[in-house]
Amino acid sequence: MQHDGDATILVVDDTPDQRDVMSILLRQAGFRVFTAENGSAGFEVAQAKHPLLVISDVMMPEVNGIELCRRLRADSNLHATPILLVSAMRVDDQSAVEGLQAGADDYLEAPYDPMRLIAKVTRLTERARFEEALRESEERYALAARGANDGLWDWRLKSNEIYFSARWKSMLGYAEDEIGNRPEEWFSRVHPDETEALEAEIAEHTRGESSHFEMEHRMLHKDGTYRWMLSRGIVVRDEDGRASRMAGSQSDITERKQAEEQLLHDAFHDALTGLPNRALFMDRLSQAVERVKRHPDCSFGVIFLDLDRFKVINDSLGHMVGDQLLVEISRRLEGCIRTGDTLARLGGDEFTIILDGVKETADAVSMADRIQEQLHCPFNLDNHEVQISASIGIALSTLSHDKPEDILRDTNIAMHRAKSSGKARHQVFDTTMHFHALELLRLETELRRTAEGEEYCVHYQPLVSLETGQLTGFEALVRWQHPERGFIYPEEFVAVAEETGLIISLDRWVLREACWQVRAWQRQFPEQQSLTVSVNFSARQFSQPDLVEHVQRVLKETGLDAGCLKLEITESVFMSSAESVTALLRRLKGIGVEIHLDDFGTGYSSLSYLHRFPIDVLKIDRSFVTRIGAEGENAEIARAIVTMAHSLGMKVVAEGIETESQFAELKSLSCEYGQGHLFSKPVEALRAEKLLTNLSGQKWLSQPGLKASHQSL
Ligand code: C2E
Ligand code: MG
Ligand code: MG
Repeated sequence: MQHDGDATILVVDDTPDQRDVMSILLRQAGFRVFTAENGSAGFEVAQAKHPLLVISDVMMPEVNGIELCRRLRADSNLHATPILLVSAMRVDDQSAVEGLQAGADDYLEAPYDPMRLIAKVTRLTERARFEEALRESEERYALAARGANDGLWDWRLKSNEIYFSARWKSMLGYAEDEIGNRPEEWFSRVHPDETEALEAEIAEHTRGESSHFEMEHRMLHKDGTYRWMLSRGIVVRDEDGRASRMAGSQSDITERKQAEEQLLHDAFHDALTGLPNRALFMDRLSQAVERVKRHPDCSFGVIFLDLDRFKVINDSLGHMVGDQLLVEISRRLEGCIRTGDTLARLGGDEFTIILDGVKETADAVSMADRIQEQLHCPFNLDNHEVQISASIGIALSTLSHDKPEDILRDTNIAMHRAKSSGKARHQVFDTTMHFHALELLRLETELRRTAEGEEYCVHYQPLVSLETGQLTGFEALVRWQHPERGFIYPEEFVAVAEETGLIISLDRWVLREACWQVRAWQRQFPEQQSLTVSVNFSARQFSQPDLVEHVQRVLKETGLDAGCLKLEITESVFMSSAESVTALLRRLKGIGVEIHLDDFGTGYSSLSYLHRFPIDVLKIDRSFVTRIGAEGENAEIARAIVTMAHSLGMKVVAEGIETESQFAELKSLSCEYGQGHLFSKPVEALRAEKLLTNLSGQKWLSQPGLKASHQSL
């Protein structure tokens, strides 16, 4: 019979000879033996050694065998330990009953037959072992029943060995014999990011601070990948309340975890570029703002980037190419940022960056420069070479930024300032911009409120033939008659109307009003049958598919001859898709309307498009006319423009003629028409009508005498 090292027996006897004989017999049978010379010593040894069996003499001084039985049975750790009582005398019934009542498992009379001793000892120890094994296997079975798919483990804390079930091992890609029974088999495979937390969870539970432990962590699979596992376990305590074992399960939750992570990722990232989206950006921004509040010497910068002319690319090359461009831009921007910075796509063609730790404006500016440089290289998309620029707004964190929205608003204002001052540049926010923006917002709200036509009116400024001095027509200029603020001039609100799209209906209202008015004058003044009207059209009109039909309809409804209508456009029209603009201009000319290019010389001033676009008349910008001095000096630019226009077959209008000498000089350059305060400021319809009455048959001439007549208007 083989007994393992755990098969320890405690022999308690006050007679040394008896102790020795029994010890020798038991050792020969393969047991380990501890001895004690009386009941109280025996109890101490039992507590220390946890023997598998206690054999005790009944008759001993002080604490006898029966008393020892009672003490062992009362001890929470030792109450199940089998006890064999030995009596040197013939034991009477009374003491047998007493012994059994005290908790002894069996009796042996001395002198005893050694064979009989070993038989009893073997039976008692085997039963003890069996009972322990049963208890363990019952616990194990209970765990297994929780989920056949789970891996199971059972950790004997005293010997520090773990039983891992075959399923536990196969979940990690290992065969039964490839994993041993040491805790390291488990803990060495836990993802380094989670090892500490897992150990803490287990320790907490072991200390009795939690009902069980449960944790999601990654485990290294044999194939080298990490898989997500849910580990759960519960401690088994001995009678003392000390953790003796811990057992539990492991479930593979990789798929669930991946689905969760995907959902989480999708919620916070832009599907097209993979960059953080607005939600994640705002979250990071709010963290940054909070950090600055707590530590005022922390700081950061924010960049707000909006692509210039992205809509043109989308409209002309299609959304697929537009998307591709956004993706490539994202990659280039990623190349510009440093670790710790957050680059996000806010939506559409808007990108934002949090510049971590940036203190100086100059640092944010150099980042903006780097971005512009990166975007400057052409993109090759679907065999189209596309060139792009961006308008960038910059703001640095301050303590006045209470919410993330505050600093984002500042960068947005600065970005719009960059746009309106010519695009492809950056602008650093300053507080005056904020007030300006508030003002614009107010204007915008009021513009929207103003029902079409209700608060607008049209003023008319005469156009004069410089050669004959005769009034040939009027330019229609809109004014906003604000109930509280009086006349508001286009300079103050046209840009806002452009930005918001309100300009489209505004321009159309002006067109109808002006055509109607001029046609009425033509009827009223028979000698003014060919009186013309020039109407300003925003570039945004050219994105309206019904533009030509609309103009036609207005002409028909007002009865004005198409040849009397001049549409004034600016160079910005050519910035959108060239082909569609050319087609529209040709169709307008086709119905008899003339196209005048306004403010020439102030915009992009590329001569190349003058060839390509069907333009009838160039209007020299006021700034070139103003330069012309009393002696006709500084007229070079005006002269160059007139010469060039004539060589391209176009006529010329000079804007802003204020002096006789400018009039004379332009006339000498063969500039066909003029407009300016010298002749008349823009005036209300009623005054324009008076002008027509007074001028009937008269002319403006480059003569001092007639200047007086114009002043009397
Ligand atoms: P614009 O089309 O170049 O109009 C000429 C501007 O120069 C007018 O300013 C006119 O009052 C001013 N002006 C004319 N002669 C003189 C002069 O001798 N000296 C000076 N100092 N100024 C002179 P206004 O009416 O303030 O209009 C400004 C701009 O607003 C216009 O420039 C035009 O681009 C835009 N605008 C006006 N009405 C409309 C409209 O109905 N639709 C659109 N889209 N834009 C309009
Ligand atoms: Mg104009
Ligand atoms: Mg102009």
